[in-house]
Amino acid sequence: MKLGFIGTGAMGLPMLRNLLAKGFAVTAYDANPAALDVAVAAGAKRAASCADVARASEGIVTILPSASNVQAAYLGPSGILEAAAKGTLCIDMSTIDPGTARQVAARLAERGVRYIDAPVSGGVAGATAGSLTIMIGGVASDVEAARPALVAMGANLVHVGAVGAGSVAKLCNNLIAGVAFVAVSEAFRIGEAWGVDPKILTDVISTSSGATWAMQKNHPVPGIDPKAAASRDYAPGFTTDLMGKDLGLAVNAAREGRVAASVAAAAQQVYRMASAHGFGRKDCASVYQFLKPGSKDSPV
Ligand code: NAD
Repeated sequence: MKLGFIGTGAMGLPMLRNLLAKGFAVTAYDANPAALDVAVAAGAKRAASCADVARASEGIVTILPSASNVQAAYLGPSGILEAAAKGTLCIDMSTIDPGTARQVAARLAERGVRYIDAPVSGGVAGATAGSLTIMIGGVASDVEAARPALVAMGANLVHVGAVGAGSVAKLCNNLIAGVAFVAVSEAFRIGEAWGVDPKILTDVISTSSGATWAMQKNHPVPGIDPKAAASRDYAPGFTTDLMGKDLGLAVNAAREGRVAASVAAAAQQVYRMASAHGFGRKDCASVYQFLKPGSKDSPV
């Protein structure tokens, strides 16, 4: 399958490299010329627009920041829909809301263009290692057609259900992860305020009921885990901006489903505030930095 790839950013670039390494011929486009230059240097063929990618491709991978970017890339001027041949298979790996995934799929289907949503978990490290978890929504035959490309980028493929179901699974996962980073940060700030060594607290929690991926794989306190973003001045990783976006998507999905989501909504506001105070482009674990204690002199 001749592949197209749109969105060669933090996630897209290593995913594209894995496709190239597995022998796929790939035509790439990114709205940011510098990001596209790096993809071309890695071995991709340069395209001038999303439509240009569609003209050259039988399958198209997109991994873009948000739903508005996905709508623009698929449905906007010089977008995929303008140029994709009937039968083209589109694989959107962005984290967006399930409603947009279904809307884009429906518009493409009017022209006989196929679409699956296939968001990912595992971060830049997983994208680089080709070990991403990929949560897929779509028709079974389309998922099977996409499988060779997907296994080049991920190690754990789960077909969740119809179009949009992959996005639902992704939002559910990130709701839990996003809340957990805030919870771990609050817990460690309390521990420090009462003089408890964060390394010892980590040991306690690791073998107790509070153990969580957020603490064990990306500890928000600097100096505990040398591999964690916190020990690299919170270089992302997965940014605070993106976590705020994903919790917003989860809250919207809850609202549309008439589900109460109070903890997710509270965590969303924490990330929004952290973004507004300069932590937006840092790793989301920097929410720990944002939650620094007030002055000891302030009234309690
Ligand atoms: P990024 O900002 O690093 O890269 C996105 C790229 O898309 C940018 O280079 C941008 O120029 C390009 N772009 C935006 N709109 C475009 C358009 N209309 N046409 C062409 N190019 C366009 O973002 P990222 O970190 O790679 O994240 C991409 C998606 O993956 C997001 O939805 C995010 O939530 C999801 N995700 C990210 C991570 C992570 O750790 N970074 C992990 C899992 C999922």
